[in-house]
Amino acid sequence: MCAAETIIIDGSEGEGGGQILRTSMAFAAVCRVPVRIENIRGKRPRPGLARQHLTAMKAIARVTNGQMSGDELGSRRLEFVPQEIVGGHHEFRIGTAGSATLVLQTILPALLVADQKSTVVLEGGTHNQWAPPVDFLEHAFLPLLCKMGAEVRCRLIRYGFHPAGGGRLEVEITPTRVLRGFDLQERGDLCRRHSRVLISNLPGNIAEREQHRLVRKLRWKDSEVTIDPVPSSGPGNVIVVKLQFEHVTEVFTAFGRLGTSAEHVADEVVKDVTSYLGSTAPVGEYLADQLLLPLALSAAGEGSHRGGSFRTTPLSQHSKTQMDIIRRFLPVEFEVRSTDEDCTVHVRPASGSTS
Ligand code: ATP
Repeated sequence: MCAAETIIIDGSEGEGGGQILRTSMAFAAVCRVPVRIENIRGKRPRPGLARQHLTAMKAIARVTNGQMSGDELGSRRLEFVPQEIVGGHHEFRIGTAGSATLVLQTILPALLVADQKSTVVLEGGTHNQWAPPVDFLEHAFLPLLCKMGAEVRCRLIRYGFHPAGGGRLEVEITPTRVLRGFDLQERGDLCRRHSRVLISNLPGNIAEREQHRLVRKLRWKDSEVTIDPVPSSGPGNVIVVKLQFEHVTEVFTAFGRLGTSAEHVADEVVKDVTSYLGSTAPVGEYLADQLLLPLALSAAGEGSHRGGSFRTTPLSQHSKTQMDIIRRFLPVEFEVRSTDEDCTVHVRPASGSTS
């Protein structure tokens, strides 16, 4: 289903960040095709591999018994020759608060098509700004993946916040031969809305101020915003808002940080929630770029329902770059139809391709 020759990717294209690297490695592994990435994270102020990316690269090399060169901190060029995909038990320690879920993002497509079940233990950050928090993975992304026929469960064992890290996530992946596509055009009715204010090793009044602000600005009941003091190796404060609809669950987060008031942090997530609720599109910005991967795998695979579609808020540069990278590996087509308010993305087998 995939390209056969070495694929050369310019890591400074489009969005120009770590996503190009993860997506390229993930699909190189699935397709078992060699890949070379140049200008890694070329549009970032500090280009090259950071520790979180390096762990992800070592992880993909391990789960494919692959050969890799250039896998060093700061490296701007990487070559990867994957071999077979090795399911089973894998453990990866990031060693900093770098995101555990982004390491998972890199290896998950390969383990989804492995010959056997996998259990993966990841240690590092579980709730990082600019990465999918575990709540998002568990409630927004994985349920849709499971609808496609895969079985993936994740268990948060220990919270890990920036900068201390020390979190632990365990993931069980039961592969599937066929990933069924889906069409996600409507949210359906709202079934439940809830917000958790996570707080660890910080004064409780931070969480209380955030709770108060959320209740007031979202006009929710007190019982819909709860404070969860959680154990972890360092300080941490994250607001997680979950909106559960009939056909999709979306999760929004805001991160408490030094120098930013509790009220401001609450306002950040209120802005994202209000904007999502002001539209009718079921898929938010982050879910959109992440859904492109399994839908593309489905479109390039076998089965009677290959590929699919979703309606989302205007596409991010991230999503556009994802499409460009995916097309380099798989015979799939993306069609984007935009209106003033939202857009619908169709992911299909490329015309003339056979599975
Ligand atoms: P770089 O440091 O090079 O910018 P990176 O490797 O840290 O890159 P990005 O390239 O920015 O990361 O990719 C971030 C990924 O995390 C994307 O898949 C995006 O959808 C996801 N993501 C970011 N923020 C959130 C969030 N709040 N909720 C869910 N997913 C998120």
